[in-house]
Amino acid sequence: MSEVYDMSGDPQGSPTEPVRSASAERAGSSACERGGQSSTAASGSRAVISEDDWDQVVHLIRQADEVALACHVLPDGDALGSMLALGLVLERMGKRVVASFGDHRFTVPRLLRFLPAQRLLSPPADFPAAPELMITLDSSTLERLGLLAANAGAAREVVVIDHHPTNAGFGTRALIDPTAAGTVVLVEELIHRLGETVTIDVATCLYVGLVTDTGSFRYSSTTAATHEMAARLVATGLPVADISRALWDRAPFAYQAVLAAALGRAVLEREGHGLVWTYVTKADRAAQALPYEEIEGVIDIVRRADEAEVAVVLKEDDDGAWQVSTRSRGAVDVAAICSALGGGGHASAAGFTSHEPVDVTMARFRDLLRKS
Ligand code: AMP
Ligand code: MN
Ligand code: MN
Repeated sequence: MSEVYDMSGDPQGSPTEPVRSASAERAGSSACERGGQSSTAASGSRAVISEDDWDQVVHLIRQADEVALACHVLPDGDALGSMLALGLVLERMGKRVVASFGDHRFTVPRLLRFLPAQRLLSPPADFPAAPELMITLDSSTLERLGLLAANAGAAREVVVIDHHPTNAGFGTRALIDPTAAGTVVLVEELIHRLGETVTIDVATCLYVGLVTDTGSFRYSSTTAATHEMAARLVATGLPVADISRALWDRAPFAYQAVLAAALGRAVLEREGHGLVWTYVTKADRAAQALPYEEIEGVIDIVRRADEAEVAVVLKEDDDGAWQVSTRSRGAVDVAAICSALGGGGHASAAGFTSHEPVDVTMARFRDLLRKS
């Protein structure tokens, strides 16, 4: 067990666990109102998601004995954080909880193994074939559920909770707010609407989603409401420095060699918008015995090139498929390009999967970039 989890205080569910009553805090929040926006909606999601939709979802959850949770494949902090936070709350409400993601290789990324409530996770094979109530988190399409897309297809009710603008709403009910900084923002609101409290473990899960999806409050999705949510979460007593270190300030030494190889072959194409790109092969990682999950941060170094509006990193996974990460400084909508290539995401951070060689994939991407 990691230092972060150990330091998070008492074991989960302990009566001495610091808790925050969302409703109590919000009841006295009128002093925080500003700019005509009520801070009672942590995300401002009430403007986007109707009261009726919230009520219907709360009703579905209250009625269910078992809730099956699924997030997108190759889960990130927001996907796992939102799913585990909701899982903990549902468990406390007395529900049977199943939580999973539909990867053939069912492994939690090492960076996220410090998250509390890993015990709620089970492999996709153990997921109910036709759940009574399934809730998907941070997944913009049915395909992003991987192996669990079939379970969603057979479920009686599928509630889609997400913040991707490319999400067309594939379930029977949808709580989708593209203005939310992370899916965790919507989950916090849902927890509040269920009348439940945010314990330090729940707060840790929500905080990890919030900081990973906002790039530590650097991206444009960051608003006053984002910081207000962070303040509520930090007030539960979670170990901020330990979480930051676990997420960003560590990597096996082998990462440095793989990073060096990727940076050594980075290309800057100055024409048009300016494009910087590189790739990391399975062989690069094999040479250093570095797992795929460790290379997620390469894009954050590559995209720093001042001359480029757009950055691309192609990452060959263990199956030989290319997971392509794309970033834009704002002038180009990379979600539109990635959607056209079968992926999705946000205007400034998006991705897709390619089964073509690097040069073919880049030719396709370049072509769409030229037209955008
Ligand atoms: P990443 O580059 O993996 O950090 O992903 C950036 C954004 O693109 C995230 O919002 C992802 O959900 C989205 N994304 C990444 N890969 C895919 C994919 N294969 N299909 C759809 N969306 C993706
Ligand atoms: Mn995600
Ligand atoms: Mn997200």
